Amino acid sequence: NKYKKEDIIRIVEEEDIEFIRLQFTDIFGALKNVAITANQLEDTLNNKCMFDGAAIDGFVRVEESDMFLYPDLDTFEIIPWRPQQGKVARIICDIYYPDGTPFEGDPRYILKNMIKQAKELGFGFDVGPECEFFLFHINDNGEPTTVSHERAGYFDLGPTDFGENARRDMVLTLAEMGFEIEASHHEAAPAQHEIDFKYGEALKTADSIMTFKLVVKTIAKRHGLYATFMPKPKMGINGSGMHINMSLSKEGKNIFGDSADTNGLSEEAYYFIGGIMKHMKGMTLFTNPLVNSYKRFVPGYEAPIHIAWSLRNRSPLIRIPAVSSNQMRVELRNPDPSCNPYLALAVCLAAGLEGIKNKIMPPESIDGNIFNMTEEEMKEVGIQSLPRTLKEAIDEFKADTFIQNVLGEHISTKYIEAKTKEWEDYCQKVSEWELEQYLYKF
Ligand code: GLU
Ligand code: MG
Ligand code: MG
Repeated sequence: NKYKKEDIIRIVEEEDIEFIRLQFTDIFGALKNVAITANQLEDTLNNKCMFDGAAIDGFVRVEESDMFLYPDLDTFEIIPWRPQQGKVARIICDIYYPDGTPFEGDPRYILKNMIKQAKELGFGFDVGPECEFFLFHINDNGEPTTVSHERAGYFDLGPTDFGENARRDMVLTLAEMGFEIEASHHEAAPAQHEIDFKYGEALKTADSIMTFKLVVKTIAKRHGLYATFMPKPKMGINGSGMHINMSLSKEGKNIFGDSADTNGLSEEAYYFIGGIMKHMKGMTLFTNPLVNSYKRFVPGYEAPIHIAWSLRNRSPLIRIPAVSSNQMRVELRNPDPSCNPYLALAVCLAAGLEGIKNKIMPPESIDGNIFNMTEEEMKEVGIQSLPRTLKEAIDEFKADTFIQNVLGEHISTKYIEAKTKEWEDYCQKVSEWELEQYLYKF
C-alpha cells in the first residue's frame, strides 16, 4: 500500500490541508462527497465517519440508514483546483454497515468482490478506458446548452478546435492528480473531445474514471464551457462512447496474447470474448444505463449495434486492436460514459471469467463491414443485436440470472425499479419530435 494512516496525517499537516472530502459513488454512477475538517481526520481514518444512507439514491431504507465511510488510503489526492492555502484533499471510501459488514449496495464493493474472484483463479484484471465528451456553451442564465460554434473534426487542431485550451488544462490537472495521460484529441463530432489515460488495475481505473469526469467538468466550467458525458446529446452526429480495453494477467504478465495463434489471441482471450458475447444483452443495462444511451446505437456514427467481434473492423461490438502480444487486449465498444464504471467493469469481468470457466468459444470473427450485410445474411451467421431501447435492456437483464447474481439482490432490485420508472416517465413525455410530426397534420 502507498500510504499508512500516519502518512496521511503527516501530509495533511505539512501541506496545510483544511478539508478532506470523503467520496463514494451511488449505484447510478453519481459521485458523492462529504467534507470533514482536518481535526476530524484521525477518527475518520479509523472508520468512524457516519452518514445518512437513506439520503442517497438507491441506497438504504430509512430504518437502517446509518452507514460508515471506510477511507481507502491509497486514493488520497490533493484537489489541485481548490485554494492553495487551506488546501482540499479527497479520499475515496468504501461503505459499511454499523456492524462492520460491507454494504452490498456499494458499487465499489461489487467490483472489489469480482476482482477477488478473479484473483482466486489467478487472474489480474487490467482496464484502459477511452472517455469521450462534448464541450458546449453555457447560456446567459448559466445553464448548459447543446450549442457550440465549433466545426472541428477528428484530430483537428486550433484555431478550428475551440476546446484546445480547456483540454490542455484538463490534461495538466489530471497529471497533477497522478494520471498518466496517453493521448488527447478532438473527436469526430464538432465540440467532441477524447482524453485517454493509461490502463491499470480495474478498481483503480474505475476510481480514475470517476475522478476524470469531475476534473473534466470542473475545468470546462473554468473555461466558461459545459462538459457533458451524456451519450447522445445531438441527433445526426456521433455520440460519446467509453470504450473499455480489457486484459487479464497472470503473475503480472498479460495472458491475452499468443503469437502461435493466427489471430494472435490466447485461449483465455477467446473464452473471455465468448463470455462477454453470451451475456452482453443481459449486462447492457449497466454499460448503457440511460434512455439516451440507446440513441447512440444507430448506423453511421461509429457506435456498435451488433453483437460480433472483429480483428480489423470498427463496426462490431468487440475489436482486437493490432498490438504486440504482451499488450493484447479486447476493446468493448458499446459502453458509454454515463455508466457506473464500478458496475460496468464488474459485469464485464464476470462475463469474461464465465467464458473462461465454461470454455465458451465465440463465433467466427466478422471482418467485413457489418453495416453492409442484410438482415438475412446476419440471421444466417447468427449475429444478434444489442438491446434497442432501455426497456429491452431491462428485460434482458431480468432474464439473465447470472448477471443479476454478480450485482446482488440489492442493486438488481433497485436498478430495475429505478430504470423501469425512468422508461415509463420517458414514454409519457410528449416530445418535440411528436409535436413536429403530428401537431400540424392532425
Ligand atoms: N464516438 C464513437 C462512439 O460513439 C466512437 C468513436 C471512436 O471510435 O473513437 O462510440
Ligand atoms: Mg474515440
Ligand atoms: Mg476505441
